[in-house]
Amino acid sequence: MADYRLPTTVRPTHYQLAVKTDLAATPASFSAEAIIDLAVDETTSSIVFNLHPSLSVTHIALASGDLEATAIPTSALSVDAETERATLDLGAVGGGLTAGVHGAKLFVRWEAELGGNMMGYYKSNGDADEHGNRPIYALTQFEPTAARRAMPCWDEPLHKATYALSMIAREDQVVLANMDAVSAVPWQPAAPLSSSEAALDASYTVGSSLPASSSGSWTVTQFTTTPPMSTYLVAFACGDFAHLAAEHHSKLTGKTIPLKIYATANQIHKAQLGLDVKKWGLPIYEELFDIPYPLPKLDTLVAHDFDMGAMENWGLITGRTTAYLYDERSSLAAKKRVGTVQLHELAHMWFGDIVTMKWWDNLWLNEAFATLMGSLVLPERIFPEWKMNSEFIDTHWVRAMDLDCRRSSHPIEVACPDSSQINQIFDAISYSKGASVLRMLKSVVGEEKFFKGVSIYLKKHLYSNAQSSDLWEGISQSVGKDMGSVMANWTLKVGFPVITVEESGDSELKLTQNRFLSTNDVKGGENETLWWVPLEVKTVNGGKTDVDHDAILSDRSATYKVSSDSFKLNAETIGLYRVQYTPERLAKLGAQAQSFTVDDRVGLLSDASALASAGYSKTSAALAFAAAVATTETEYLPFSQISNLLGTVARVWWEDDEVHDAINKVRANIFRPLVDKMGYEHAEDDPPDVKQLRALAVSTAAAAGDETVLAEIVKRFEPFVTLNDDSGITPDLQRTIFTKAVREGSKAEYEKMLEVYNSPTSNPSTKVDAMFALCATQEPALIDRTFAMLPDTKAIKDQDLYIFFKGLGANRAVRHRNAQYVMDNWVALNERYNASFGLRNAIGGAFGKLSSKHDLERVSAFFGAHDVKKYKLVVAQTVEGIQAASDWLARDTEDVKAWLKENRFL
Ligand SMILES: [Zn+2]
Repeated sequence: MADYRLPTTVRPTHYQLAVKTDLAATPASFSAEAIIDLAVDETTSSIVFNLHPSLSVTHIALASGDLEATAIPTSALSVDAETERATLDLGAVGGGLTAGVHGAKLFVRWEAELGGNMMGYYKSNGDADEHGNRPIYALTQFEPTAARRAMPCWDEPLHKATYALSMIAREDQVVLANMDAVSAVPWQPAAPLSSSEAALDASYTVGSSLPASSSGSWTVTQFTTTPPMSTYLVAFACGDFAHLAAEHHSKLTGKTIPLKIYATANQIHKAQLGLDVKKWGLPIYEELFDIPYPLPKLDTLVAHDFDMGAMENWGLITGRTTAYLYDERSSLAAKKRVGTVQLHELAHMWFGDIVTMKWWDNLWLNEAFATLMGSLVLPERIFPEWKMNSEFIDTHWVRAMDLDCRRSSHPIEVACPDSSQINQIFDAISYSKGASVLRMLKSVVGEEKFFKGVSIYLKKHLYSNAQSSDLWEGISQSVGKDMGSVMANWTLKVGFPVITVEESGDSELKLTQNRFLSTNDVKGGENETLWWVPLEVKTVNGGKTDVDHDAILSDRSATYKVSSDSFKLNAETIGLYRVQYTPERLAKLGAQAQSFTVDDRVGLLSDASALASAGYSKTSAALAFAAAVATTETEYLPFSQISNLLGTVARVWWEDDEVHDAINKVRANIFRPLVDKMGYEHAEDDPPDVKQLRALAVSTAAAAGDETVLAEIVKRFEPFVTLNDDSGITPDLQRTIFTKAVREGSKAEYEKMLEVYNSPTSNPSTKVDAMFALCATQEPALIDRTFAMLPDTKAIKDQDLYIFFKGLGANRAVRHRNAQYVMDNWVALNERYNASFGLRNAIGGAFGKLSSKHDLERVSAFFGAHDVKKYKLVVAQTVEGIQAASDWLARDTEDVKAWLKENRFL
């Protein structure tokens, strides 16, 4: 670990930075200068900082108390490509830096190409204009360790410093940065530096002597100096952007903060919702945290090429088009994405940006909190009709346990010795498990005390760094008792418990906790953690509901007396654990389902499904429970769980035609009547969950191959092919209609989807739906065309490639071919993705739906023979997922068949 971390001898306190961007050069490139003020904590003869080898350093100079401004030959700088660190040997110029010396400054000038790999300072291609020209623009993506690809820096979150940035660009370009612009004046290069040390003269303006470019008039824009901040949050951009504007009036300060959203001119009209959400969210955050938004402005920039979903650069949020663009052809899901992503990034303006984790092992402090706020707390206030608490269970709570039930999972707080490990923990554990743990704590202590504690924590560490214990301290202070010790195992230990409920005749329950594993084979040493489990026992007595909020299980087991024969644990599904009832109790709960809330039913269904797939109970028990709930169910989210269970069984038994077809009959049997009742069109006043239920019913019945539903889909798609009339395609049903119409259809349907995919006017979520459709065809010649697109960087953007692997993985006919493709092209894919996030998603898409023992052996052997260090977590998790599925097949095929026969589906 010590090798990767920077030494503690010298640290930066202030960067003067000038960046000159030349988008018209061939290749597009930038040159830049920095003067970095240094604090010298230990005497040293070298300075070590982060620098990526793609930056070419041309000038270096150093000034300090005992080493007056001195030019340093670039030969004194050695760059280690593996650790992305540079060592500047001061011995080479006969000097060193003495501890405590004042006025040490490092000057560096460098230049580099604007890369296309979505890291550092990179170029993005806009949509083609009427002449087929695609404008380029440039923006940054630094998190977690790519600031060093744009500038020499101390690229660790603990090294907060202030930044005074100036951007030099052609005068018709818009330049953006974390802060507001203080001046913009014409720029012409000054005379070349007589020598490097001249740059450290008090009279020198950083960037003024950067080399001239061949054409155009240039402007230099100076931005206000930032507060102390971490490198990964620094951001700038340059391009031909349009914008929409609004304002935030702070109740805390009385100040007005300009809010803008930027995009290319052809897309800006789709950005209004993103801007509105920002405006609605800011006052709520200020009130909850009791801390004003601290910067003078807040921009969002929408980018065509973006590796992650979005990024919380302080004052300049960035993100991909699907995260921020929305119009009348977008689905409700797309609207929710815009809302939750913008609110997530806004939460980071406090959680992450003002207060930053000390090191990446505490990444969860950023991501869990932003997920909790963006996917739950803020939408509940702004969009109550979305019923986000129930949806949180259906998404993050389920996702968290789905990953954390694997042996290859990791604790929320995990050692991050190098950049490949840092990259890998941007996963469901940091986001969804972390958020679920915080939601559990919030439910137990109450929202008011929870946010009071959060506010205490934030105020104590403003403009500084913190770790988990600091958050627990704030909440403990607010609650009046120590919460750190009870929360520790939730973040420091891997996994979560299953609570087994045994019943004796006299209303006494014996409750026992054990670690839950997807392979139900927990071994002694793996079962040592005892979690603090809020039991939240709910009883229903003659229509009256009670919840015991005081019952906590923190030992291995305990007894509990219930007052009614109608009860369940984990009321409202607030706790992050599974509950296993006896088969008799589960059957009773199925019959009593409507006595419990939607949140309860979602949790019960999810538990039943997870316990069956992991071998804690029989699959027939889960199927029977789901079928029983379905008979009385009316709500979207429980149906979504039922659809998931049946879809999972169909997916795991995908190579067993007999079971697969029979399960499809079960799916159609439950969902087709819903389609008949609800139809394909929304009524204007349908609430969101009714729309979602309609879309779920149609998509599940279609996935099950229901002929009537498929015929209707084909009928609705046809005018789109012949007349370009999409009025029959309800946006919420669009992905289902696109994929099924192509699946059922032929060349004309496929060509139509290609046209939609390639059209610059298609909205971003429509393009994604078209991608899935291109992967769904059953015709060999057409699917060959989709496979032929995969290596073509002009046909598929790097950021979108994983979507194709996901789509092809969902197509039974080519599932094996898709996996084989990724194996055959592993080296090329590694090169294309470099160190970005895409390949991680591609691995899940390509291999995640395999379930046979044969595939397990093949995939394990493949990964065993290749270097997968950068992806070792997701590879281990994927292989373990195939293992669990193949165990499930071996264990329960006869049980599933018996249930299907008994219920006349087989
Ligand atoms: Zn985030």
